[in-house]
Amino acid sequence: MATYNVHGGHNGIVMGANSQFGKEHILDRQVKDALISKLRALGHTVYDCTDEVGSTQSANLRNIVAKCNAHKVDLDISLHLNAYNGTANGVEVCYYDQQALAAKVSKQLSDDIGWSNRGAKPRTDLYVLNNTAAPAILIELGFIDNAGDMGKWNTDKIANSIVKALTGQTVGGGSTGGSTGGGTVAPPSDGRYGTLTVTGDVVNIRKGPGTNYDIAPGTGYQEDGKARQGETYIVWAEQNGWYNVGGDAWIIKDFVDFIPAPQANEVGKLVVALVDGLYTYNSANWNDKGKTINKGTALTITEVLTVDGYKMYKTKSGIYITAAKEYVVVK
Ligand SMILES: [Zn+2]
Repeated sequence: MATYNVHGGHNGIVMGANSQFGKEHILDRQVKDALISKLRALGHTVYDCTDEVGSTQSANLRNIVAKCNAHKVDLDISLHLNAYNGTANGVEVCYYDQQALAAKVSKQLSDDIGWSNRGAKPRTDLYVLNNTAAPAILIELGFIDNAGDMGKWNTDKIANSIVKALTGQTVGGGSTGGSTGGGTVAPPSDGRYGTLTVTGDVVNIRKGPGTNYDIAPGTGYQEDGKARQGETYIVWAEQNGWYNVGGDAWIIKDFVDFIPAPQANEVGKLVVALVDGLYTYNSANWNDKGKTINKGTALTITEVLTVDGYKMYKTKSGIYITAAKEYVVVK
């Protein structure tokens, strides 16, 4: 068993990067909470070194480092999101001297979430990496101002991926644990369910799928637990007439327009051949046969198509493959 320090970067006073897709300190804390509970569930010791009170950037950083260095740990993990020009995208992991681990974590997140892999980045200028006593990595969980990166955002999957990279242990999509509001349903590990746009004037965001649950502050664009007309949220699950918009946050169906995203579920996952000699296709055309692949060959799905009424996957390598369950499995 290992011992970790984990913290989310920035705080509500000195915020990090914000965009129309969310706020860095809110998103990094979602992953922080999920990561901590998953590591603890596996028996590891984890300290939360997040700072909520530092009122300047340097005070925030000093507080984080002081908390980190108060415990003897195997690794300090700092969680952030990148921002640049809206186009830049991908996951990267900054390190002071932990190159191999940084590269491993970055690749695992890229593989699991579908973010492009920017890899391990040596940074000797980052205060947290410089001043923590234990080995440390700083994970940039995609670009908060990039629609593609944020469209793939899935707290549960991200936390699972980090756990896998750190420990080799696989955890289920299950509970993020210890929810104060009860009724915790983690976002499904197979990705987004759709998007909703709020049509009501002001709609409560609640901690569970029912009006009996508390309002969930710290969620939504205004952080007061209320969604406002015109705001758009990614939906991860549906239960009892409520949509899950991430973590323990739920919005009732009655005051939103919902657009399902059934095809997005499999994008970024691997389609694996179950038989030898399975045909691939050079285009989205069942007659345009390409080379054959053997059992166990895995391709990354980039698009889900319906061709002549049958489901087909486009893959990262540019070739197409059947989605028929007799021939392939999606992982
Ligand atoms: Zn940051």
